[in-house]
Amino acid sequence: ELDQHPSGRHFLQIPGPSPVPDRILRAMSLPTIDHRGPEFGELGLKVLGGIRKIFQTQHPVIIYPASGTGAWEAALSNTLSPGDSVLMFETGHFATLWKQMALRLGLEPEFLSLPASQSWRHGVQPQLIEARLQEDREHRIKAVCVVHNETSTGVTSDISAVRRAIDAADHPALLLVDTISGLASADYRHDEWGVDVSVSGSQKGLMLPPGISFNALSPKAIEASQRSTMPRGFWAWDEILTANANGYWPYTPNTNLLYGLGEALDMLLGEGLEQVFARHERWGEGVRRAVNAWGLEIQCQEPALYSPVLTGVVTPEGIDADEVRRTIYDRFDLSLGTGLGKAKGRMFRIGHLGDCNDLTLIATLGGCEAGLKLCGVELFGSGMQAALDFFADNPAPGTPAA
Ligand code: PLP
Repeated sequence: ELDQHPSGRHFLQIPGPSPVPDRILRAMSLPTIDHRGPEFGELGLKVLGGIRKIFQTQHPVIIYPASGTGAWEAALSNTLSPGDSVLMFETGHFATLWKQMALRLGLEPEFLSLPASQSWRHGVQPQLIEARLQEDREHRIKAVCVVHNETSTGVTSDISAVRRAIDAADHPALLLVDTISGLASADYRHDEWGVDVSVSGSQKGLMLPPGISFNALSPKAIEASQRSTMPRGFWAWDEILTANANGYWPYTPNTNLLYGLGEALDMLLGEGLEQVFARHERWGEGVRRAVNAWGLEIQCQEPALYSPVLTGVVTPEGIDADEVRRTIYDRFDLSLGTGLGKAKGRMFRIGHLGDCNDLTLIATLGGCEAGLKLCGVELFGSGMQAALDFFADNPAPGTPAA
């Protein structure tokens, strides 16, 4: 039989898992070591220290050998007790899934939403959070849970404004934030923004394969974990924090992903977080210029909240976005994100994170442009050209002048 495979690299332009740099793949290919030996302790301390810098926190960060969903469960089960009310906001599909998990765990989530015409196109509305907390005079609400970068829509939320809303209501609720797809691409400040638990994962801005995830803690979250009565075993912070003090885990950690994390930390901190955020902002702007040049709509309706991680592209009425995605995959070996939940068939998502550069994004936009045309979408102009012009006219900081 013929071995038929596409030549060249597959274009993985979904908003996570993101393309993994060769440097990280090589670091992960080293032999697995004894997770109770001295060499491991050094690695553990290195990654546990480095990841704090990524969350911009002085406090402990827990690393789980689990996907982001596990770290969601960990955040809820360590801080809350059965029957507790939690206030959540429907930014999109991932906020909805986190709410469903809260229900499964025996919590009582209250889900704030915008009217259908605006739903999934805006960020968290801090004034609605504040108003709801003002009403809650008995302090029945124990936590406010929001998503920082809603991966299903490409809309971010202003987390420091959510903190201010909680403070303005003079309410003791904890602030739990999902930055699974925001961390290490979009600016994120655990301490400065007063977040109690930040949840993240490996397969997005950290440029690692899926398989590890995080809870960044605050002293108030640790205190809450000492009082909360939700049953928890694997996720319990206390045993992990004790073992982590010496760079170890109470169970077998994901050694090779931790090699990868060590390499990712060297790359991201070596580049500098400011530069990392600026790089993603610039890519996002280039991709949005392409969508505008095509004459298509961007899912996010608040320019101040455009995600630097991904862009949601709405397909015209009568065009199935999944058909467009399939065509692009079959013809150009390029993967794009599907429309999730309520957005199924209505939009596709272009990831601009991970091991990308200007030209991989130009190629991605070229594949989108050709696929849209093949599916009968009439485009105003060339988005690929608009993005190329933007990248050429606005060199990345540090590139030599022409
Ligand atoms: N939250 C957000 C914002 C996500 O983007 C994802 C995954 O894409 C998840 C949660 C779930 O994470 P995982 O699929 O790693 O369990």
